[in-house]
Amino acid sequence: MSALIGITTFIESDEFAKIRLTYANSVATAGGIPVLLSPIVNEPLAEQIAEHLDGLILSGGGDVNPIHYNEEPHSTLNLVCDIRDQYEFQLAKAFIARKKPILAICRGSQLLNVALGGSLIQDVPSQVNTELLHSQKEDRHVATHSIQIEPNSKLAEILGEHQIEVNSFHHQSVKQLPKTCRAIAYAPDGVVEAFEYEGDQFMLAVQWHPECMPNDEHAPKLFQHFIAQCLVDKKRHTLTHMKEG
Ligand code: MN
Repeated sequence: MSALIGITTFIESDEFAKIRLTYANSVATAGGIPVLLSPIVNEPLAEQIAEHLDGLILSGGGDVNPIHYNEEPHSTLNLVCDIRDQYEFQLAKAFIARKKPILAICRGSQLLNVALGGSLIQDVPSQVNTELLHSQKEDRHVATHSIQIEPNSKLAEILGEHQIEVNSFHHQSVKQLPKTCRAIAYAPDGVVEAFEYEGDQFMLAVQWHPECMPNDEHAPKLFQHFIAQCLVDKKRHTLTHMKEG
């Protein structure tokens, strides 16, 4: 049995759906089947996708429109894409309704937080008192800043570490988390670098880009654990359906 893992894409030039290959490679290397998802706003379609797939990766990208967490746009806000916001909200909702695992990466982490009712720091460099560089100029696979991981968290369990080095390509981060989630990793300046859902579903959100670090000691473990979790849940769903049938 294999796990089918949906990976969200973004729209380029109004006519192409695109995403870095590193996401699909990370899923395939971990034994999953990567499925690139089209940016189409269509709720019944999102429901069908969630029905067929075993897990969802909300990928990195641009800013979420702050209208979704009731804020006016900060002057540094990047171009937003309403289609991407909408179809990713629909997918998140559909996977949550089925309690299927979600791994959220960078923008995905911000999107998931907002989908669950949280809010974002729109611009870390100007709104957080920090001199730490979260928009690194080093290559994508290079780790540049440390994070502290909460000892009794899913992330600490998966990685077997309480401190690791990560890459960093974000100007936004978590501000307020919903009550159902808790922050489980912080940069040295206090910026939230990961959170997890505390309910009966696997949802893990990271602010860095583990998919860009295939040779890292820790990053591949996130994908391995995610795929393993998707398989466990798939077996449970299959058994439930058999009993119901
Ligand atoms: Mn960072």
